[in-house]
Amino acid sequence: MRVSKYLLSTQKETPANAEVISHQLMLRAGLIRRNASGLYSWLPTGLKVLRKVEAIVRDEMEKAGSCEILMPIVQPADLWQESGRWEEYGPELLRINDRNNRDFVLGPTHEEVITDIVRKEVNSYKQLPLNLYQIQTKFRDEIRPRFGIMRSREFLMKDAYSFHLDQETMDATYQDMYSAYCNILTRIGLNYRPVLADSGSIGGSMSHEFHVLAQSGEDVIAYSTEGDYAANIERAEAPKPTQSRADATQEMTLIDTPNAKTIAELVAQFDIAITNTVKTLIVKGATEEKPFVALIIRGDHELNEIKAEKLELVQSPLTFASDEEIRAVIGAGPGSLGPVGLDMPVIVDNSVKVMSDFSAGANTDNKHYFGINWGRDLPEARAVDIRNVVEGEAAPEGQGTYAMARGIEVGHIFQLGTKYSEAMNANVLDVNGKAKTLLMGCYGVGVSRIVAAAIEQNHDDRGIIWPKAIAPFKVGILPMNMHKSHRVKELAEELYKTFTDTGIEVMFDDRKERPGVMFADMELVGVPHTIVIGDRNIDAGVLEYKNRQSGEKQDIPMNEVVDFIK
Ligand code: ATP
Ligand code: MG
Ligand code: MG
Ligand code: MG
Repeated sequence: MRVSKYLLSTQKETPANAEVISHQLMLRAGLIRRNASGLYSWLPTGLKVLRKVEAIVRDEMEKAGSCEILMPIVQPADLWQESGRWEEYGPELLRINDRNNRDFVLGPTHEEVITDIVRKEVNSYKQLPLNLYQIQTKFRDEIRPRFGIMRSREFLMKDAYSFHLDQETMDATYQDMYSAYCNILTRIGLNYRPVLADSGSIGGSMSHEFHVLAQSGEDVIAYSTEGDYAANIERAEAPKPTQSRADATQEMTLIDTPNAKTIAELVAQFDIAITNTVKTLIVKGATEEKPFVALIIRGDHELNEIKAEKLELVQSPLTFASDEEIRAVIGAGPGSLGPVGLDMPVIVDNSVKVMSDFSAGANTDNKHYFGINWGRDLPEARAVDIRNVVEGEAAPEGQGTYAMARGIEVGHIFQLGTKYSEAMNANVLDVNGKAKTLLMGCYGVGVSRIVAAAIEQNHDDRGIIWPKAIAPFKVGILPMNMHKSHRVKELAEELYKTFTDTGIEVMFDDRKERPGVMFADMELVGVPHTIVIGDRNIDAGVLEYKNRQSGEKQDIPMNEVVDFIK
């Protein structure tokens, strides 16, 4: 392209309100512009990069045997009512009405729509397994859009969905997607790490996230120093408690909380991760053999001053008929007559929180206490995934200790089980002609977020240093005084034509600008290779080459330039 006919839109100053480097550079290099909170336009250079990421993602999905489709952004509410997420999803779901006052949503994800398609199109086991993907705009009404397109409300996602009759093909496709994601991030040239993830409110058993490592990342990854274990900190396994119940009881520390009248006040005083917005506690990971018991606070005992917020026990999957029955399982807390909480992850308003070392009670002098209380009669094995791990403590399977890193979540894969297919009646006939509910997997890549993540990892104080695979241009032509020197102009035009004809993407700065301005723009935009054309070089029969990444300069004989860049 010729800069004179292009929308370059670079700016020198660091924009206000751009906290992270990728956001600053995307604005300064003229990649994106903000239209409203969390809503951005992609300018020509940004779009070129976005399309390159998209092309790599598409290529790897095709190689992995997934078929591309395109679903609507606007989705009918009835599908969401069928799946149950019309109620569950919360305020990130933007709901809209059409002229007939029918309810619709702007799709934050497409499980419902794809399940609807598959239940209509797929009737026989012979059509399975099936893996479908799209690259489509998503809308999530994020509570705090920030960091530019890193966490925007409208963004580009590649989302794939697979359907299966048996766990074997489910596992195989999951593995294929895992490998495809590794290929995508390796091809783009990013330093990333796949980690175990919590499947959270979406349900299902198996889940991994793919994180681009960066200080600005919003997620914390815990990994083992001597082995492969890595997990999102929400999911990382804590060491098994070594104390027996008897020891633990002695360790219990009681803290006087005379002023706490509500759970919210308790939380505020002790910095624990429950909030007064808790409506439901879902105890994760419980089984018949290994029950979890949630914190229960009730109004009918000595703690009735904190009844303002009542936490309900949700038995998953155990059911308790009465408080007595619950107490028979958890017992009464040592030094506490009231409710007992154990370390456990809970899902609160769709996000995973961890209640750590929490118990509340009152002793006989009738003071309120907040204490540390381990294990009890619960199988201690379940205590392993119940709190956030900390740096330096033992990682699982003898893999040394935990270290921490920050990451940007750019991909996420899940096995969903039958959550959607059951709710939405997606069955097919198996070999024996029997109707079977489909198993389902879903696989997301944040295509637009990858652009920002790539910049977080590849920049210097002069601008972006694109990894080769996604650079908007391969080479820049920087003519010195072209508007005065006929020779320079002629050579620049000729080189531009040769590059273009060879299929090399070139940024030809044909503006009437000072060389300093042109150099600065070329470096800010992050063009990997620059060729400088000046009268002096022409006399010497060479062109001056500069590498953006290394900063190295060298003279290249004119007739070798194209091969050198190719
Ligand atoms: P996050 O934890 O960052 O909110 P998520 O877990 O809600 O992301 P998923 O539902 O797993 O996101 O969606 C798949 C991918 O879409 C994510 O891994 C991420 O790369 C991308 N993504 C999600 N939300 C946004 C957003 N608001 N802006 C840009 N990309 C996003
Ligand atoms: Mg999110
Ligand atoms: Mg996430
Ligand atoms: Mg996710």
